Amino acid sequence: HVKHHGKNDIVLYHPSFQQQDFERQLAMSFQSALQNGEFYLCYQPKFNLRTNSIDSAEVLVRWDSPIHGAVSPAVFIPAAEKNGFIFDLTKWILEESCRQMHHWVQTDHPIKRIAVNISAPLFLSDRLPEMISKILKDFHLPASHLELEITETAIMEHFDEAFQIIALLKKKGIAISLDDFGTGVSSLTYVKKLPIDTLKIDKSFIDGVHTSFEDKALVEMIIQLAKLFKLSVVAEGVEKQEQLNVLKKLGCDSIQGYLISRPERPEALSLYKDRSKYG
Ligand code: C2E
Ligand code: CA
Ligand code: CA
Ligand code: CA
Repeated sequence: HVKHHGKNDIVLYHPSFQQQDFERQLAMSFQSALQNGEFYLCYQPKFNLRTNSIDSAEVLVRWDSPIHGAVSPAVFIPAAEKNGFIFDLTKWILEESCRQMHHWVQTDHPIKRIAVNISAPLFLSDRLPEMISKILKDFHLPASHLELEITETAIMEHFDEAFQIIALLKKKGIAISLDDFGTGVSSLTYVKKLPIDTLKIDKSFIDGVHTSFEDKALVEMIIQLAKLFKLSVVAEGVEKQEQLNVLKKLGCDSIQGYLISRPERPEALSLYKDRSKYG
């Protein structure tokens, strides 16, 4: 019976089935992974082109699983968003990174601010402001040391709720970045209406900023837009000096990417080597 259907019979091995199954397997390991200390945090510096120095860093979570190996956050974060684990995970990420930031404050470290990625389900649940207030208090950390990166998709379908939450966080003194900027559909509307601080230009535009006239024009437009609304602007995924040269000419405020540093564990961060060539 099977042989009459030929190759169409392997429908069970369709990637989406495999992926769903893999995500389910990951999800089953989440809680024990958190308890066993399999998650850890890396920090990727942001280089400020106005002051020629590293002044902040994005927090990026990593998972070394004894069962699944090193799993990319691009894979396990969506799974954690689907099964609700993202709440516990982000609480842990906020605690760990605020502990680290508190230590950096005490040692007068160059990194003065950490930026934590916040997934849509947590952001929109309205549990975030309270969670953050408690953690800042527990770690004796002023709110000015914390920034949140949220994506456009998080606010797209629930604009009014998102607006309220952003306004509340702003009132507490927490800075807000709009991540992956330019990839959503109605970016312009949000910039006008939301009380945010920073636009992060998506890497997909930065990739061609030094080679493509169109990409350069788009990036220039975003930078001008940011200026108009008195927002700062960060370019993500900067890998080449040529990209940096263009971004400097266009008046970009800060850059982030492998050119400056990969995401590193705190003890591996090197912030003191010669940065004069970027200035
Ligand atoms: P994202 O927030 O857009 O983070 C930027 C991603 O680009 C990171 O990948 C970073 O390692 C990578 N990157 C930075 N500079 C360069 C560069 O110059 N070249 C290239 N090729 N890549 C660069 P990563 O760490 O694998 O994270 C992927 C995504 O997973 C993040 O995208 C974010 O959406 C999510 N994610 C990572 N950590 C967290 C977290 O702690 N919480 C949440 N909610 N999401 C996270
Ligand atoms: Ca981010
Ligand atoms: Ca991003
Ligand atoms: Ca991106």
